[in-house]
Amino acid sequence: MNVLLWLMLVVLVILALKKKARSTLDQAQTRQVPPEQAPSRPAAKAETMVCCAHCQVYLPASEAIYAGEQAYCSQAHADHA
Ligand SMILES: [Zn+2]
Repeated sequence: MNVLLWLMLVVLVILALKKKARSTLDQAQTRQVPPEQAPSRPAAKAETMVCCAHCQVYLPASEAIYAGEQAYCSQAHADHA
């Protein structure tokens, strides 16, 4: 009978430790998740794309050649228009 009592006590201690370990793990996860989601991918890096008025190729606005209101992929296409 005494052995059974000790066995129950040991099981209870193990269960309590497991519960504590799980709760600390949950805390660590909830603490870690926000920083992973938080780093906002800088949307500013996505540059505006413009379409060449001559060949309809898309290119970054900073690399486009402008003739009037139209954007072109190269000087040749700008001259061609
Ligand atoms: Zn073009």
